Parts: sequence; structure tokens; C-alpha cells
Amino acid sequence: MTHDAIVIGGGPSGTSAAIGLARKGWHVALVERAEFPRRKVCGEFMSAANRPVLEALGVCAEWDAAAGPAIGRVALFMGERVVTAPMPATGGSGRGLGRDVLDPLLLEQARCCGVEVLQPGRATGFTRKGAGHRVELAMPQGTATLEAPVLVAAHGSWERGPLPTQAPKLSAPGDLLGFKAHFRGGHLDADLMPLLSFPGGYGGMVQVDGGRLSLSCCIRRDVLEDLRRPGDTAGAALQAYLMRSCRGIRETLDGAKLSGPWLGAGPIRPDLRPCYADGIFRVGNLAGEAHPVIAEGISMAIQSGWLLSRAFEECDSVDRKARDRAGARYQAMWRRQFSTRIRAANAFANLAMRPERFAGLGRLISTVPATLTLGAWLSGKVKPVR
Ligand SMILES: Cc1cc2nc3c(=O)[nH]c(=O)nc-3n(C[C@H](O)[C@H](O)[C@H](O)COP(=O)(O)OP(=O)(O)OC[C@H]3O[C@@H](n4cnc5c(N)ncnc54)[C@H](O)[C@@H]3O)c2cc1C
Repeated sequence: MTHDAIVIGGGPSGTSAAIGLARKGWHVALVERAEFPRRKVCGEFMSAANRPVLEALGVCAEWDAAAGPAIGRVALFMGERVVTAPMPATGGSGRGLGRDVLDPLLLEQARCCGVEVLQPGRATGFTRKGAGHRVELAMPQGTATLEAPVLVAAHGSWERGPLPTQAPKLSAPGDLLGFKAHFRGGHLDADLMPLLSFPGGYGGMVQVDGGRLSLSCCIRRDVLEDLRRPGDTAGAALQAYLMRSCRGIRETLDGAKLSGPWLGAGPIRPDLRPCYADGIFRVGNLAGEAHPVIAEGISMAIQSGWLLSRAFEECDSVDRKARDRAGARYQAMWRRQFSTRIRAANAFANLAMRPERFAGLGRLISTVPATLTLGAWLSGKVKPVR
């Protein structure tokens, strides 16, 4: 075997798992397809509940120094409605940090912890090899093969491809596509994170690092197709639609300038998936994905990577039985930590995409804004990893 563990993917889940496993003294390889820094479809908000894990990973001070303003209030922007409420109290504030800053920060920390980072390197396939796994890589200098008893799939859930852990390519009118753009200027209160609700989709806005405003959303494929006129980019059609649909977005983006192009991804497939199957550990979106309406995917990615390394705590050598025991421990910890918010996110997302059905709840939120605070609480924003 060339390594104790191979991690495929250098997003927040892969880097967190790699750091945790390297801290055990394991020889860990991490393979990341993209060159960093790179922008990514993501709203870029992270709740304060992550602080203990960021501290354990050794990046909390850097996150504090780089992230945008403290978020103290949540809001609902729906049609002409603008309602704000306090974030639930957590003993700290969530903040936004661009993925072009956060992901390199975590990857650099993995390097410092002794992880061998192969970047750019794309995993093109993997197979069982004895009691472990063999991973095939494509790199600029040619192909390579790595072998290890522990394989961690952390390559996210939105790309289709040849890996057994990637979902098949399917396309349906109801698919949810993810989009994001950065803006400069605009009029979003620094401490406010609004939830955007519009027909066929939902989204969010938050100030991130360096005075940038991050706007991200999900929209049904068929709704987006109807919006596009010949020559329109998806981003331009979407931006015009968002501004038409929602007073809060219109007022926020008045005078704002796009900083970089709109990015698209997906379709996204929010679901609970097996965390350990066929001898392979899955972290981040691959283990389970909440609708981004609750802005908890980075938290779940970082926390799941960390939980995986904890599942191996009393395990020095990794034979098949030890791996299965760690898999069962990891799966149980994962479900306790994340299942409720995945279900809550499903319910919120289905309401937020249908403002006509959301109208009753919208009226309730206007009358009792604390309903928004309760929603943020249900979404896991005050639930640190124990
Ligand atoms: C519109 C939208 C808004 C969102 N907003 C928020 C938010 O505000 N807050 C929040 O917490 N979450 C948010 N999320 C969710 C969040 O972006 C994801 O949950 C998170 O990125 C998952 O992290 P991950 O590490 O599992 O995967 P990823 O971040 O997708 O990382 C996977 C990595 O694997 C690499 N990779 C892929 N294939 C291979 C391969 N074959 N070989 C090597 N490397 C590979 C990729 O290049 C990538 O770097 C949002 C999502 C969407 C769609």
C-alpha cells in the first residue's frame, strides 16, 4: 500500500478528513482536480457552530481574520415582503468567506499537517485491491496509481463521471440548478443574511470577505429555460428575474456591480445517502446533502470530515473489521448530527420555491418574525459537533 488513506476531493469535507487522519500520524494522500484558488457555486456562509471544529483543524484564527462581517440577523425577502429577525444566540456569529479563500486555507493546513496533496490530479477510477483500494489518477505529468486500506470519497455530489461514487447523468424539468455571483457595492446591511423566496426557486445573500456580496440560488431547470431569450446567458436571465420577483433583491442590487461571471452547477440532489458502503467512506455532500436554503452544506462538510477522523480514534491499524467498525460509528455520529437539518431543509425548500403556498407562512413570519429565528435554529446553526 502506498498510503494509509486516500482522499478524493479537496473541498471542505476532504481537507477536514485529511487533516484529522494525518493528525493520527497516518500517511494521507489527497487528490484535487482543480487548481486553487477557484470560485465555486456556494453562498459561502458558515455558522458559528463550526468554531470548535475550525479550532481543532487549526484554522480558526485565519478564518476570523479573513471572513466577512458577523451575521446577527436573518431575513425573508419574498415578493414585496421584507422581514428581519435575530439569528438564534450561539455565543458567536456566523460569517461569510469566499470559497476561493476558504478552500485554499484548508488545503494549505492539510499540507502543513503532512498530507501529500496531488493537485491538479483527477481520480478517474478506483477498484478493490486485497483488503484495500487502488485509485487511478490523471495528472498533467501522466497517470498514477495509489493504494490504501482507507478510501474517502469527498468529491461532492454535483458532477457526473466515471467513479462508482458519482451519480448517473439524468436530466428532468424539475431539476434544481445552483447559481452564484459576487457583487461589489449594493445595499445589504452587513449583519443581515436574507433568505430569498421566488417562484421556482430560493436563494440567499450575505456579505463575504473583501467587501464582496455573495448571491446564490437554486432554480428549477424548466423555470430557467422559460426565462431565457435567444442570446441571454443563464446568469443574465436569472439576475433580471430575481430583481423582478423580489423587492429586497432589487433594492440590494441597486447600483451593485457583478464581480466575476455568474457560475452554475448541478443539478443538485439533496438527500440522505450511506456514509459508509462497499468499504468506502463518504463525507460532505456525498454522505448527505441539505437543500442550500439553510446554508449548512460547508458546515456539514467540515463537520463530517472531522467526525470521520474521530470514528478512527481507537483504531491504529486498519484491517477490514476495524474499518467496518469505524464505518458503523461514523454513520451513527453522522445521522445524529445532520439528519434533522436535512429533513427541515427539505420542508423549507419546498415552501420557499412556491411563494403562493408560502404566503400563509410569509404572513405568519411578518407577524411573528421569531419564526425565522426558529427556522435558523432548526437548520442546525446552533449545533456544534460533540
Ligand atoms: C446555490 C448554493 C448555495 C449554497 N450556499 C451555501 C452556504 O451559504 N453555506 C453552506 O454552508 N453551504 C452552502 N452550499 C452547499 C455547499 O456548497 C456544499 O455543501 C459544499 O461545497 C460541500 O462540500 P464538499 O467538500 O462535500 O464538496 P465540494 O465543495 O463540491 O468539493 C469537492 C471537491 O472535489 C473535487 N473533485 C471532484 N471530482 C474529483 C475527482 N474525480 N478527482 C479529484 N477531485 C475531484 C472538486 O474539484 C472539489 O474541489 C450551497 C450550495 C448551493 C448549490
